[in-house]
Amino acid sequence: MRIILLGPPGSGKGTQAQLLVQRYGIVQLSTGEMLRAAVAAGTPVGLKAKEIMASGGLVPDEVVVGIISDRIDQPDARNGFILDGFPRTVPQAEALDELLRHKHLKLDAVIELRVNESALLNRVETRVAQMRERGEEVRVDDTPEVLTKRLASYRTQTEPLIHYYSERRKLSTIDGMMAIDEVTRAVHRQLLALGAVEPKTHARSAAKSAPAKKAKATKTATKKAAKKPAKAAKKAAKPAKTAKKAAKKAVKGAKKAAKKTAKKTVKKAAKKTVKKGSKKGPKKVTKKRAKR
Ligand code: AMP
Repeated sequence: MRIILLGPPGSGKGTQAQLLVQRYGIVQLSTGEMLRAAVAAGTPVGLKAKEIMASGGLVPDEVVVGIISDRIDQPDARNGFILDGFPRTVPQAEALDELLRHKHLKLDAVIELRVNESALLNRVETRVAQMRERGEEVRVDDTPEVLTKRLASYRTQTEPLIHYYSERRKLSTIDGMMAIDEVTRAVHRQLLALGAVEPKTHARSAAKSAPAKKAKATKTATKKAAKKPAKAAKKAAKPAKTAKKAAKKAVKGAKKAAKKTAKKTVKKAAKKTVKKGSKKGPKKVTKKRAKR
């Protein structure tokens, strides 16, 4: 899935993008984040962008188009991406169309978060105050003065994109003034309606746990299967053992039987001898006695 989140600074694009990342397992490509990283790293792009960003202006189109084109080619973007903060001008949108065509990729939807401008200033002031309270570093362009300039550049340079994408039947507009989770639900409904996501796509945790369960089941099955041959081998070995035992038993039995038979024969023979002897004996004695 490839989507664009469109909206003025402070409209919640970043927040929604992160939630979409968790839900659909796609990456967030934020040109603002990439440029801030370039500034922090002191790269040539960063050096070019630093002053422009601090004053609330727009970095040249060719710079951001180059960054996005390279980023889309990264393996983690293969599954899909959310463009957050790009495109910001019509030439950037045209360049994006061109590079997507060139890469044989399709744009699924453009979601516009529509917000009330005066509410945006309040949001930014609250966010800055909260960040300061937490001791976090506040962005140099997150002050009410710079925000006013960023809003002006949104109106003149970015808002024409609403018309651009609506003409191409890509635009969906959502009320960005709703609570965060309501906006998320509305975005999901919109993506469903556009066919950009499967109806069964639930929270990512569910999608994640399903393969996890499957993997567990497979693991158990594999373990069982591994145990099976062992069991079978044991079973196969059993008859051999039994046969051995039986043979031993048979031999023992035969020996016993032979012994018994021999004993019996000996006994019988002895009995016979005794009988014969007793018959003959007295006779002999009698004979001897008779002789005497
Ligand atoms: P953001 O975090 O999206 O509000 O962007 C912060 C700043 O980065 C903007 O005020 C611009 O100076 C610069 N910037 C980010 N994205 C773009 C873009 N697509 N085109 C030009 N400048 C940009």
